[in-house]
Amino acid sequence: MPELPEVETVRLGLVPVLEGRKLVRVEARRPDLRIAFPPRFAERLTGRRVEKLTRRAKYILAELDDGEILLMHLGMSGRFFVDHERTNSIGGGAHDHVLFETDRGARVIYSDHRRFGLMTLIAPDALAGHKLLKGLGPEPLSADFSAAYLSDELKGKKTPIKAALLDQRVVAGLGNIYVCEALYRAHISPKRLARSLKREQIARLVTSARTVLEDAIRAGGSTLRDYRRADGELGYFQHRFRVYDREGQACLTRGCRGHVKRIVQSGRSTFYCPVCQR
Ligand SMILES: [Zn+2]
Repeated sequence: MPELPEVETVRLGLVPVLEGRKLVRVEARRPDLRIAFPPRFAERLTGRRVEKLTRRAKYILAELDDGEILLMHLGMSGRFFVDHERTNSIGGGAHDHVLFETDRGARVIYSDHRRFGLMTLIAPDALAGHKLLKGLGPEPLSADFSAAYLSDELKGKKTPIKAALLDQRVVAGLGNIYVCEALYRAHISPKRLARSLKREQIARLVTSARTVLEDAIRAGGSTLRDYRRADGELGYFQHRFRVYDREGQACLTRGCRGHVKRIVQSGRSTFYCPVCQR
C-alpha cells in the first residue's frame, strides 16, 4: 500500500505533466472506484485547467480553474502512468480506469486493480469539513507536528505508541512501515504505552518520523509489490528499510547485537529490535 512518501513521489511526478495544463479529454471507464465517481465526472473535468497539485495526508488534490478540487487517493493498489509521447502503448488495460489527456498531448492513466482508490470533486468551501479530510491531524512534515503537540496528544493514552502514531487524528498520513522505521530510529519500543514516553523521547520520535519520511521522499518512494513511480520507474527505498520486513536479521544499530523481531499489533505486523528499542 502506498504510504505518504510514495504519494508525495507520485504527486511530484504528476506536477510537471498536469500543473498549469488544461485537460482536453477525460475518461472514467467505470462508474466507481471505492466510491462512485461524482455525477458527470469526466464532463466536469474536461476543459478545466489544473492550477496546482498539493497533498494532504495520502490524498492528492488538484485545484482546478473553476474552483473545484479533484481529490484523489491511491487506495491499496492505485498507480499513475504517464504517457508523454501519446504512444497509446499504455492505458488500454482492464484496470486502467481513468484517463486524463492534457493540451500538451500527455496522457495520465490511473490504474487500480483492487479499486480501493478514489476520485471525487469537492467545492473549495467544503474541503475543510469534508468527511474524508475532517479530523485529520497535522502533516508529519509540518511545523505543527512538534514535540509539544505530540506530548499533548499522548498524554493519558493507554494504547501502545505504535497504535497512537497510526491514529490519523494524531498525525496524518503515517502508515505501518514508516511508524516502524521512526520508532526504530528513535530507539523506542512499539509496545511502550503512549503515555509513558518521556518528553525527550517524544522529541526524538518527532525528529525520526520526519527524517524517515524525508529520506524516503528523497529516495523516490518505496516499492512494495507492484508499486511504481508516477513516471513509470520503480522506486528503490525498499532496500533501505532499516527494520521493516527484516525479521530475524541482525539489528543495524551500531553496537547492538539484537535481531529484528516481528510481532502483531492491532492486526498489523510490527518489526522492531527488542534490544535497542526500549
Ligand atoms: Zn538493536
